[in-house]
Amino acid sequence: MARIKFCGAAGEVTGSKHLIMTGKGNLLLDCGLFQGKRAEAREKNLKFPFDISAIDAVALSHAHIDHTGALPLLTKNGYKKPVYCSSITSHLSEIMLKDSARLQENDAEFFNKINKDEKIAPLYTEEDALKAISLLRKKDSPFKPFENMKVSLYEAGHVLGSCQIFAETEGVKILYSGDVGRQSQLLLNPPCFPSETDYLVIESTYGDREHPEVEDAKEVLAEIINSAFKKKSKVIIPGFSLERTQEIIYILDNLKNEGSIPAIPVYVDSPMSCEITKIFNEMKFTGNFSKSFLEYARLDKDPFGYEYINYISEKRDSQKLNDAAGPMLIISASGMCEGGRILHHLRNSIENENDILLLVGFQAQGTLGRRLKEGEKEVKIFGLKHEVFMEVRSLEFFSAHAGKSDLVSYVRKVNPKKGIFLVHGENSQREGLSQALKKEGFNDIRLPEHGQEYEL
Ligand SMILES: [Zn+2]
Repeated sequence: MARIKFCGAAGEVTGSKHLIMTGKGNLLLDCGLFQGKRAEAREKNLKFPFDISAIDAVALSHAHIDHTGALPLLTKNGYKKPVYCSSITSHLSEIMLKDSARLQENDAEFFNKINKDEKIAPLYTEEDALKAISLLRKKDSPFKPFENMKVSLYEAGHVLGSCQIFAETEGVKILYSGDVGRQSQLLLNPPCFPSETDYLVIESTYGDREHPEVEDAKEVLAEIINSAFKKKSKVIIPGFSLERTQEIIYILDNLKNEGSIPAIPVYVDSPMSCEITKIFNEMKFTGNFSKSFLEYARLDKDPFGYEYINYISEKRDSQKLNDAAGPMLIISASGMCEGGRILHHLRNSIENENDILLLVGFQAQGTLGRRLKEGEKEVKIFGLKHEVFMEVRSLEFFSAHAGKSDLVSYVRKVNPKKGIFLVHGENSQREGLSQALKKEGFNDIRLPEHGQEYEL
């Protein structure tokens, strides 16, 4: 009899970890980092609700840090077995895990420099990340991580390389959605499905709402850029390096080709975004890209760049932006303002009422991005208080996650025979999705709590 234990992203969005336990071996689905308030997230990240030595394999759905970022903690605690994923996810995870380790190290160093009373150690180091990277195994066709377990990966349409994980063991079939992409999106094709499953473990990030059409983002973005150009504002965009940054640049490329935006300099200030955009360019005719993107890419040889877009890797070039005058657009990471260069840009602009913070992605509870989105007037950056005078705007167009009706239609297509587990969503989102699914006649719906276990 197989069992499943929910070890993260149960009643919240970050820290995805779900453990399938069988008589012959244990498979961990994703190994994500909890994100949120520093001290709270740190405590949760250091505690694994399972015996690490009993894990036989890890399978990753996609390269986002909330699905992979705790791997270096696993290896730091002695894990040496394989970590399976699609080849694109392996490529991207290598970049993202190294970057995550650097962020942990840099933030700890900066925090310690400006806080006299409290010292912190990085959660993990680049060495721990390299150990985790050495365990990555590329699997684009079905594989058996141990004797009674068969795993197949299905495109999820969430970010480049993203997959759903379909596990077959001891007579049961379990589909783990990972993060589910939207039906209609800018760059990728929508998800595809296995023909039948018993159980579905599905994300519910936007289980209680719909997104406006992503196509409509162009007009709003053009309006913001035109007004910022006139006012000489700095527009600071926290962009998730994987996908959101490329989506924004792709829209800018479109707007520039149409003549809808002026010659405003754009700085993509993140070494990781630079590396990942290179991968998008290399993969543009081989990845899971949509027809409309491919048509565009055939006409425009560089869909992620034009003469005013500057990719910045070096720290000293990033620092130069602090003193440079607007107008300009700075796209920097991390996407929820939890670490990285975005914090330095925010620190520099937050008390300037002429500058704009433009949020273009999901902001998890407890993150600085969420606090700013909710209109807090005073926030701490690197432990120091700042009053918020800059304008904060939030665009809801850009989610890489399916909205409520896309999730419902996904469940209808998968049509699980025995039960549905809702994960990767705060409780109000899970409740919203649960009610919508019940209306569709799905009754066996569970909202697992952290650490809860079920027989399959
Ligand atoms: Zn994701």
